[in-house]
Amino acid sequence: MAEPTKLTEIEIARETLRGLAAKKIPPTPDNYRTLYCEIAGVAAKSPFPERELKALQASLPRTGAEQLKFARQLEVAIAKASWEGLGAALNELLAKSGGDHATWPVLVRELLQQLETHHAGLTAARKKEALDHVLSGSGASELLLSRLQSLIRSWSQNTVVDRSERSATEGVDAPVSAVAMTVATPTAIATPVPRPAVQSAWQGGILDLREIIGQLLDNTLSIVLRDSPELATEASEIAASIRAAQTPDALAGLPERLKKLCYRALFVAEDQAEMASALMHLVQLIIENIGELVLEDQWLTGQIKVVRDLIQQPLSLRRLDDVERRMKDVIVKQSALKKSLHEANDRLKLMLATFVDRLADFSETTSDYHNKIENCAAKITKAGDITELADVLDEVMRETRVVQVNAARSRDEMNTMRSRVKDAEEAVARTRNELASASDLVRHDALTGALNRKGLDEALEKEIARLRRHSGTLSLALLDIDNFKTLNDSLGHAAGDAALVHLTKVVKTTVRPQDALARYGGEEFVVLLPNTAIEDAVGVMIRVQRELTREFFLNNNEKVLITFSCGVAEINDAEDPYEALKRADAAMYRAKRAGKNRVIPA
Ligand code: GH3
Ligand code: MG
Ligand code: MG
Repeated sequence: MAEPTKLTEIEIARETLRGLAAKKIPPTPDNYRTLYCEIAGVAAKSPFPERELKALQASLPRTGAEQLKFARQLEVAIAKASWEGLGAALNELLAKSGGDHATWPVLVRELLQQLETHHAGLTAARKKEALDHVLSGSGASELLLSRLQSLIRSWSQNTVVDRSERSATEGVDAPVSAVAMTVATPTAIATPVPRPAVQSAWQGGILDLREIIGQLLDNTLSIVLRDSPELATEASEIAASIRAAQTPDALAGLPERLKKLCYRALFVAEDQAEMASALMHLVQLIIENIGELVLEDQWLTGQIKVVRDLIQQPLSLRRLDDVERRMKDVIVKQSALKKSLHEANDRLKLMLATFVDRLADFSETTSDYHNKIENCAAKITKAGDITELADVLDEVMRETRVVQVNAARSRDEMNTMRSRVKDAEEAVARTRNELASASDLVRHDALTGALNRKGLDEALEKEIARLRRHSGTLSLALLDIDNFKTLNDSLGHAAGDAALVHLTKVVKTTVRPQDALARYGGEEFVVLLPNTAIEDAVGVMIRVQRELTREFFLNNNEKVLITFSCGVAEINDAEDPYEALKRADAAMYRAKRAGKNRVIPA
């Protein structure tokens, strides 16, 4: 009997394709391979997932010699498509890691076995993804061990689900495989697939679990995330989706969203912890400063105001840093001023002491004079002739002159001292006032009392934060006094200064209390108008112009009209406020070119 002719590879391939078409089997790589092996008469083998393993090997760390060696061993084993080689490399690595020698080899063997085994609904790529996730996300070896065990358990559980069980447990199969894929936590992976007998109890448990997760997201996490409205909304939305889900499909995608939310919430929690410690640092700084300032209560006003403002706004690390820096400025300035106040006080005390000494000298001199004159009077009574009298008179004259000179000297000294005491008193008063306003000066312009640049930055930051939170409107106006140089030249610099103070007063009384005025440059000012659309902001600035024509600036009782040119811009969504300021500046220049004394929207 002739031996059957052996088919060539091309013939087997052709037969395989024919067979697939005839049996109406979809020509997937797996189906093709199975039929090919059947026709060729060889045992079907799972393909070696070379591409996936290569990607896994490429993602492994290579920081030390051991890690490099392990990566090379894997590379060789993958190139040879050798599971044994992979196993040997893993075994060697684990033996070196000093782990539990009894557990690890068993685990590796199981892992290799599970990798080779065909699992329902689990492709080699999915297994690789899950393994990759566990390997890269589990730092300590104990954690890695327990996660790998859970992973293997979840894969092995998938093998017991045959087609009939799958259809019976359809309601719970999908979420389990989704969890196995994403490998959220070992406990989640280890969740067993329920048998129909325990299914209803299990589903009841799932309902409870869903409600608890919903509460956790809605009630607990929303408190942690109260300063991150975007995340709080995401937590509430996930909670709503979990509660509303009636089918496993409706839960798909939620584990991934939950995982992302967890990461982001972790960052928020870390930020909050850092903020709390920065805040504590700040409080300590204030308390130290209060200890230093024992002289006058009003010195604390500025600092306490800063802290009060800070507490009223949502905290941010940047704001806390900024406040701490400003507080330090104030403290340095206050301690310098306090030193000069002490010095002035000491000088005053010294002068008073000298004055008292001089006064004592003087009265001593005058009482000495009295004694001498009494002596002379006695001599005059006793005098026998005119020569004796002449001697006594000479003595009287001499003593009187001495007293006169002493008196004049003391008077001059006293006058000098009186004026020096007055100077010292004034210096002390000046220093006291400076000290009282030291905190304010950090944010306000000394001449006009309007905000300075730093104050403007802070006000802008505050308003922008408010705008982004509540989605309102924010306009800003930039005004520049017309022909101010001429005013300075004709009336003098002091009149110019007074005109700036006058303009500040008129603007402040015309705009609303929540609007802010800042001196932007020499004779340029910025007005911040929260919750004001551009047309209304233009209207406000025209009102200020009108007010200036009613409230004249008086220079030596002479009425002087101050006018300004103004550009107004509304801050667009997400626009940098300084860009809006630039637009307002350009509009202001247009107003100048168009003839001054007008308001132009940007
Ligand atoms: P324009 O209408 O084009 O704005 O002309 P202007 O004269 O107002 O503008 P210019 O920029 O030529 O001059 C501004 C002047 O403002 C020059 C400067 O001396 C004066 N100035 C700036 N700061 C102060 C200040 O604090 N006090 C006083 N008195 N004058 C100031
Ligand atoms: Mg100018
Ligand atoms: Mg000007």
